[in-house]
Amino acid sequence: MSGMRGGGRGGRISGGDVEAQRAANATAPKIPDLLKRISQLFAPHRAAITVTIILVLISAAISVFPPLLTKQAFDVGLFPPSGTPNIPVLVELVLLMVALWISSAALGVWQTYLTATVGNKVMGALRIRLFGHLQAMELAFFTRTKTGVIQSRLQNDVGGVAGVLSNTISSVIGNTVTVIAAFVSMLVLSWQLTVVAVILLPLLVIAQRKVGQVRARIATKTQESLSEMTAITQEALSVSGILLAKSFNQQQAEVGRYTRENENQIRLQVSQQMSGQWFFAMVNIFLSIIPAVIYLVAAWLINGGTDVTAGTIVAFTTVQARLMFPLLGLLRVALDLQTSSALFARIFEYLDLVPAIVDRPDARPVRPKKLGQVQFDDVVFRYPDAPADSPATLKGVSFTIEPGQFAAFVGPSGAGKTTVSYLIPRLHDVTSGRVLFAGDDVRALEQDSLVRNIGIVSQETYLFHATIAENLRYAKPGATDEELTAAARAANIHDTIASFPDGYDTVVGERGYRLSGGEKQRIAIARVLLKDPAVLILDEATSALDSLSERVVQTALDAASRGRTTIAVAHRLSTIVAADVIFVVVAGRVVERGTHPELLAAGGMYASLYEQQVQGA
Ligand code: ADP
Repeated sequence: MSGMRGGGRGGRISGGDVEAQRAANATAPKIPDLLKRISQLFAPHRAAITVTIILVLISAAISVFPPLLTKQAFDVGLFPPSGTPNIPVLVELVLLMVALWISSAALGVWQTYLTATVGNKVMGALRIRLFGHLQAMELAFFTRTKTGVIQSRLQNDVGGVAGVLSNTISSVIGNTVTVIAAFVSMLVLSWQLTVVAVILLPLLVIAQRKVGQVRARIATKTQESLSEMTAITQEALSVSGILLAKSFNQQQAEVGRYTRENENQIRLQVSQQMSGQWFFAMVNIFLSIIPAVIYLVAAWLINGGTDVTAGTIVAFTTVQARLMFPLLGLLRVALDLQTSSALFARIFEYLDLVPAIVDRPDARPVRPKKLGQVQFDDVVFRYPDAPADSPATLKGVSFTIEPGQFAAFVGPSGAGKTTVSYLIPRLHDVTSGRVLFAGDDVRALEQDSLVRNIGIVSQETYLFHATIAENLRYAKPGATDEELTAAARAANIHDTIASFPDGYDTVVGERGYRLSGGEKQRIAIARVLLKDPAVLILDEATSALDSLSERVVQTALDAASRGRTTIAVAHRLSTIVAADVIFVVVAGRVVERGTHPELLAAGGMYASLYEQQVQGA
């Protein structure tokens, strides 16, 4: 299983580092700050929001009238002082009410359309921002954070907020309308009864805040557990994960791991749904007993000589009942918002991560004149998340590779050879010293320009689940079919591809698993040839292959390295005997350098390594 190298190495490091980072960021987001940031997201949609608010006000104005018309229907139409119902007036009132309700409903649909559009656009923009931001993060971020945890932020958190937001805006707006309208009609009908109806509302608001805080806490835990589940799924159900589990008979253990997190998730979901149930029950009881209380108070008012008609009481209790659902809806939304503020906080937390490796403001493109020259000047490097007291991975490495040279790095595993190759395209930045590309410190160069000039073929080839042609064009989007075949020929893979029924349109399986290691590797070489970089880095490109495939791939690599600077991290010394210069790396230092004959003659580390391998062969 070769998935443990480079990026993969961090794959199983726990998400605890992110938690640690979160603790370090420890400025727990305050709700007002959050609201400010959330409202900034809506800034581009001011026009649509203004229209929505106008629509809301119109709807509000419209829906004040029907209850007042109800009162008229009773007091003037049905039970006029004359004693007989006044049909013409009644018909007029009913028609008017119908017209008002129809226009209010139509406005409601329009509002929903606007709010749904705005809500989804805002979320879409947020998702893209987050994805783009993550693309800019340095490699080290991905080696220390579980892939599933990152995916979960993008999918579960943004997705969770998206649902809430588009529901929320329309619900807030729609319900606010009804509540305001109902409240105004109630006031017009009878201020005394209104006081009775709303006297306990402040209590509800206080209770709602408490419940909201509890829910937000549970929501954070739920999202953490969800991201852990995504991480487990992502690890266990990937091709490498399944291979690993099957080959070590660990399927049951994986199921167990998933089960534990799943149980945690169930518990959290239940407590999230249950928190606030007592609150809502209380609200329900409260709202249902109000009409009864109103009859009593009305009787008391009438006895006291206040003018309260039957129409007033019917209209009032109708409106009051209509107040109930929107009010519940608003309380629910306030809760949802508090809950989703936890999700927003998680999203903003990622957006606030500062990429460690970015272009300087004065960054310039690579100088073409010395293209291909690579120098290390007393480079010390320590992995960003390595323990502070551990020795540095590179302890003062210096060398110069001239344009067009073939340089090889050899030495025991873990010596730091791959690390050397990572510092050239700035996958990491040096701790001290300088890495120079074409004579310039790589930190002073535009990353685009630098990376365009460097090609990497590593031990673990990554191919997308797409056709071979699409995988090749990743290196050069506009490449013609002729260019593809030329590169494939040079990489010794054209005949193989041509022999597939679908040729270049053959879809390679998840991570290219339907191809043999050697075939994948040669496709990767063809891909790098299309890029045509000035510097080619070969990181143990053949060491995962059997000797037959190795020979075929080696021929392809020899062709690929012609005419450009090549830096080969080599395990099998037989592949680098012809190198212009060989560096022997031991424990983060270059301990020997020279050509193969020179190093053999010197009789040092290289000579004994070579001796061992020749004997082993
Ligand atoms: P080589 O290529 O010579 O086998 P590497 O350059 O891959 O060696 O690794 C050198 C050292 O750096 C090893 O001790 C390895 O464990 C450590 N290392 C590699 N990657 C990381 C990482 N992402 N974080 C911390 N340490 C790392």
